[in-house]
Order: sequence, then structure tokens, then C-alpha cells
Amino acid sequence: MLRSHTCGELTLKQKDSPVTLCGWLQRSRDLGGMTFIDLRDRYGITQLVFNMETDAELCKSARSLSRECVLKVKGKVAERSNKNSKIPTGDIEIVVDSFDVLNSSLVPPFTIEDNSDGGEELRMKYRYLDIRRSPVKESLLLRARVAAETRNYLNAQDFVEVETPVLIKSTPEGARDFVVPSRMNPGEFYALPQSPQTFKQLLMVAGMDKYYQVVKCFRDEDLRADRQPEFTQIDCEMSFVEREDILVTFEGLIRHLFKSVKGIELPEIPRLSYAEAMNSYGNDKPDIRFGMKMKEMKALTSGKGFKVFDEAATVLAICVEGCAEYTRKQLDELTEWVKRPQLGMNGLIYGRWNPDGTFKSSVDKFYSAEDQKKWFEHLGGKQGDLVLVLAGDTAKTTKAMSELRLEMGGRLGLRKPDEYRVLWVTDFPLLEYNEDAKRWFAMHHPFTSPSPEDVHLLDSDPGAVRANAYDMVINGVEVGGGSIRIHNKEMQQRMFDVLGFTKEEAQNQFGFLMNAFEYGAPPHGGIAYGFDRLCALFGGSDSIRDYIAFPKNNAGRDMMIDSPSQISAEQLKELGIRVTI
Ligand code: ASP
Repeated sequence: MLRSHTCGELTLKQKDSPVTLCGWLQRSRDLGGMTFIDLRDRYGITQLVFNMETDAELCKSARSLSRECVLKVKGKVAERSNKNSKIPTGDIEIVVDSFDVLNSSLVPPFTIEDNSDGGEELRMKYRYLDIRRSPVKESLLLRARVAAETRNYLNAQDFVEVETPVLIKSTPEGARDFVVPSRMNPGEFYALPQSPQTFKQLLMVAGMDKYYQVVKCFRDEDLRADRQPEFTQIDCEMSFVEREDILVTFEGLIRHLFKSVKGIELPEIPRLSYAEAMNSYGNDKPDIRFGMKMKEMKALTSGKGFKVFDEAATVLAICVEGCAEYTRKQLDELTEWVKRPQLGMNGLIYGRWNPDGTFKSSVDKFYSAEDQKKWFEHLGGKQGDLVLVLAGDTAKTTKAMSELRLEMGGRLGLRKPDEYRVLWVTDFPLLEYNEDAKRWFAMHHPFTSPSPEDVHLLDSDPGAVRANAYDMVINGVEVGGGSIRIHNKEMQQRMFDVLGFTKEEAQNQFGFLMNAFEYGAPPHGGIAYGFDRLCALFGGSDSIRDYIAFPKNNAGRDMMIDSPSQISAEQLKELGIRVTI
């Protein structure tokens, strides 16, 4: 190599040793007779020193160097008089004997330091410069570590990594496909996989037993904040398993990742049914770093003459510990908060159990102190607490209460960024009805098996059938999901019937899978993790973009290579495509 050491490894141990370093000029400072340069590479920063008195020529040429030029430097390790305890190389500097400029650099469009002055779009356009910055570089290194530890764990459990194709076939279920025209088959298109779901199931039929892949998936969805059209999954499948086997195996994976990457021993991983999660948290991906569970108050509040509660389909409350002294102003502000169009509630009712033992609510006219005390008892509250109540239509009120709970948890500092609480949510509904399409859709995907005890309801009451499916949730974020699959042709056919496919449509789109099921398909199931999101969570960030080397912006554009872009008339002709836009 051109260097003897990296910019991140020298300490007093190498004092007086001759060394050669390579890297980028991050910053230079002229202090009278001395010039200091910070030389940066992936591994860190090392200070170079030039002395006007000992070598004026060298010092002058060092002063003429510009930011981000690439240097090869020879010199000797010396002890610094002014030590920097913040960096591993802070005790030493290199007294430079000679250097070569390996390449020059234009002035970068933003400062390449931890806190950059560059806006998001500019940094995306020059992502290769952005990656030189420590926070972005560290995010990518973290991602690589999570991927390596994932492979370590799964390899040790006898999983095999198999690559599945990227040019596959479009199917109408799920999100919109990205499609690729086929030149050799004019008028026909491949689709990019939304996930390798059917392939991993076919690998089970093929006897691979345990499969995984760290794999790119593509979904052409309208980009909501922090969605990427291409993203990565840790995709897994196992044969001869029941749900319990999957949950245990992948609890093992997440424990391994937290331990090896973050040094964290996870507490117990609870399991909650979808129904329990919705009842207690109003949400199928609850943040369980704090309690503040919601409860139905309809029975307690009805018949006292308060119309709002009497006429509401649901009356939901949470008890906020120690907040009885919330001021009128704070409560008004919360009321405005629930009235925002995103939540659209008409108002917020509060009840205080004051520290002096008295009760005070916004509905004292209808409810006595005795009545109000019962609310607190129902919610497990105590003197000094505050009860917040929302009433109205069930879906809307549940959502608003779920948001209010998260908001209060945030305000009280109960959603600690360095605390991780993992849980499984199980027993999701198998199907959901879409009013626009006037038909049932699979909530997970059409290959998910119904819970055996609910199969008899498939025709009579499809909405009540639970799926043998599970999601892993961490701190209110869904990081993974999967299911035990259907593995016989009749059941798969029945599922397609329920979803409104004709026999021909089912055969046309998924015939390959149903045919495979006729050649001895083993019982199987699996899971996929959203790898980008998992990395963001490990890094303590809300944004997956920071963990993707070359992400796309909110409009689905790659600002650096300027894509998507038009293609030439010849290319279009070759593909047999006429563009009419
Ligand atoms: N393929 C599914 C998904 O992408 C995950 C699974 O069921 O394994 O959500």
C-alpha cells in the first residue's frame, strides 16, 4: 500500500517512528511559524505539523494546499504539546519530512465536517463528499456491521444465503410494481420484486430448509416521508416450523444484533395479540417503553346526562401520571392539538385528581367527585394524576388517543432514545375489506395461512379470520413481519377465491406456485426485516436515508446521477415503446 498506517491508529506507542500516511486535507491552520493540517481517511484524523524555522520551503508549500486535496505524507510521530482527548490520535502529531499531492480538489460545495453547512439536496448531489463526513460514514459502517452480524447469526443457525432473480413477473397484489421492458419479447415486461416472497417459498419446496438473503426490494409507491422506492430486506424462510419456532429463532437474531452491535442485553420480548395491542395502545405497533394504556370508559360515563359521551361510539381515556397540576393553558394547548385536521377531534375532556385530594374536571356539571374517582380507579391512577378523555367514532377516536398517548409519553420524556423495547404483535386479521374495490384484500399477503381455529369462518365471516402472522415492533416502529404460509394447493386456491380471483387469474399469476405445491411442499414460514429501518433504529435516527449510501429524494430522484432520465429514440424503438407524454 501507499501508506504504512491509517489516519486513525497512531498513538504515543509509535513515538519517533517513521510513518507514511495518505488521506484528504480536512483543514489547515497557520499559526505564525507553524502550520497544522488535519489529514483524514476512513479511520480517523491525524494532525500534521510543519515548522517554518526548520523547513521554510516545505512549510510554504503546505500552506498553499487546498481543502480536500489528496496527500501522501512521510514524517515522524511526535508527542503533541497541546493534546486533544476527543480523538484517538489526539496525543500525537506527525512532523512532516516530505509530501506528495496525489490529487487536487475543487473547493467542495459544502464544508466536510461533522456539522455541514450544506442543505439536504446539495449533499445528495455530492453524496460522495457527504460520505466523507463522519456522521454519514459512521452510519454506513454501522449498516455494514449489522449486515455482517446478521449473516454470522443466520449462518451459525444453518441458514443458506440464496440469491433470487431481480427480473420477475408483475402481480396485481400489494404495491405498484416497477417494470422493465423486454427487448427480446416486444410488448412484454418484467417486474422488479416487491419482495422475494414466492421464490423463498419455492426454495422451501426445493428442500433448502432454511433460507436467507439480504436483498433489494422495489415498490413504486407514492413517496411518503422517509420511504425509498428501493430498499433492503433481511428475508428469511424456514421449513417444518410452527409460529413458535420462527419467533424463537428471530428473537435470537434480534438479541444477537443488539448484543454484538450495541452491547445491549434486551429485556423480555413480550407478545401481544393484534386485538390486545389495539385495545391498550390503539395501534398495531405500540411503543411499550412506557405504559399509559388506554381504556374504554363508555360504561363508566354513560347515563349522566353528558350528551357527548352518551352519543359517542367510544369513550377512551388515558391516565397521565403526576400531571394533575397541568395548567389550564397546557390543557388548552393539548385540546388544540387533538383538534388539528390530522386528528380532527371535537375536543378533549380532562379530569384532575389534585394533590390535595379534590377532583376537578372539565365536565364537573355531569360527573360528581365520586364519579371521577371511579375513572381514576378504572385506569389504575392515583392522587396527583391527570385523566385525558376523547370520545367519538371508534376508528378516529382510537387513532387520536393513540397519538395523544405518544405525545404525552414524548412530553414526559418516557420515550428514551437509548432504551429499546422489542415486542411481537401476533394474530392479525387475515383480510381487510376495501370499500373502493368492494372486495377483500390480504392484510399481509395472499400466501399467509389463516389461524387453524378460524378457517371455518373463511366463507361466512372473512373479516373475523385471524392470520398466522406476526410483526416485530421496536419502540413503536415495525421492523419486521412474516407468517406461517399456506402450503397446499386447495387452501391457496380458496384464499384466491376469497380475494376475488377467478380460477384463470389465479392460475395465470400464481400457477407456478400452486403447481409447486403439488410436488410435496413442506409446511413453512418466514419473516422479513426492513433492513434500512433496523439500521436507523440502531443508529438512533428517524431517517432511513442516512443509512443508505446513495438514497433517492422525496420525489424518487437520484440527485447525483440525475435519474430517472429519458432514453434515446433508438432505445425506445428497440423496445417497441411509444411515449405519448
Ligand atoms: N415478504 C413479506 C414482506 O415483504 C415478508 C414475509 O412474509 O416474509 O412483507
